Amino acid sequence: MYEQDFDILREQVHGHRLVYLDNAATTQKPKVVLDAMTEAYTTWNANIHRGVHHLSQVATQHHEQARQRVADFIGAKSSKEIVFTKGTTDSINMLAFSLGEAMVKEGDEIVVSYMEHHSNIVPWQMLCDRKKAVLKVIPLREDLTLDMEAYKALLTDKTRLVSVAHVSNVLGVINPVKEMIALAHARGILVAVDAAQSVPHLRVDVQDLDCDFLSFSAHKIYGPTGLGVLYGKEEWLDQLPPAEGGGEMIEHVSFDKTTYNTLPYKFEAGTPDFIGSFGLQKALDYVEMAGRDKIEKYEAELTVYLENQLASIPNVIIYAAGQRKAGVVSFNVEHLHPFDVGTLLDQQGVAVRTGHHCAEPLIDKLQVPGTLRASVAMYNTKEDIDALVAALKKAIMMLS
Ligand code: PLP
Repeated sequence: MYEQDFDILREQVHGHRLVYLDNAATTQKPKVVLDAMTEAYTTWNANIHRGVHHLSQVATQHHEQARQRVADFIGAKSSKEIVFTKGTTDSINMLAFSLGEAMVKEGDEIVVSYMEHHSNIVPWQMLCDRKKAVLKVIPLREDLTLDMEAYKALLTDKTRLVSVAHVSNVLGVINPVKEMIALAHARGILVAVDAAQSVPHLRVDVQDLDCDFLSFSAHKIYGPTGLGVLYGKEEWLDQLPPAEGGGEMIEHVSFDKTTYNTLPYKFEAGTPDFIGSFGLQKALDYVEMAGRDKIEKYEAELTVYLENQLASIPNVIIYAAGQRKAGVVSFNVEHLHPFDVGTLLDQQGVAVRTGHHCAEPLIDKLQVPGTLRASVAMYNTKEDIDALVAALKKAIMMLS
């Protein structure tokens, strides 16, 4: 629908038109984002917040406008609730450290699910090691959706936090996070949402979900790499200690005592990525201009088409088949290794991801060495999917 805005999509790979279906890993950037970042470096680059000079003030203004843009995009009450980080991984690590320091003690429990990305497992494991807390895992049902009865049973007086993916980066399934949050809140338990795979595809509203924390990465929604967002309700962010020390996050420093800056700066030590935040602002403007509801509907239809077309090929196994998905479909071909299939797809210009997708517990549960994962973005078309299907049929023929 928007291919013309993405020059990279006109590239050739191994003599074929590039068919880019690895969007869950990272999305391509529209020209408006690339041009904006070049413009930033060429016309107003200067370090923010600390300068009285003109360029510094312009740069500061852009950075704070970007923060407001993000707040509006996810429905936050205030831009004070938006902390810029390096990405989803950084957001969750920061939260695990801060929340761990303030709210977790020996014997407390943290709940995650079986389908989490390593980014939403390992920081909590590290916290549990530090604090002698216990990590509990929501199991999956046969159909690879979360076992909600088991989830309810896992919520106890010891549970401090639930941290769960909104959309699985392997299965594409959309978890019932709103319901999960309500269940947790009924017991006074906080909930963090890993929205790395949902914010790019669905209209995510933090006040509607009522989540306490939420993370996502700019590079998965047409923005630059190295930038992410940690949303937190003001009342919780106020209570948490900073995870990192340095410039920007302080009010006053002396060798006797240092006091911290107000929200959100308390959590942003060092020079922030103010060029990246400008890029993200332009990316969100781009998505908004294209129409979020229109994109959501288009991508949902494309995902169904993708799953149906793959399912029509003999010996193709779809994971979480028939479940509503957001942009991502994982599959395998019976008796073939996903790496071999993925390599032959690449030879035909088709980029999909193969492997464990940073979700080893889930892949172990599926009892496979990995999967092939095709994931769509707003610029993909049915022709891209037809190209994948044709390439896959050829790969199967060559390998069988
Ligand atoms: N969580 C989920 C669900 C993801 O899909 C990813 C990336 O694929 C991450 C977290 C980590 O994101 P990043 O590598 O941008 O920090």
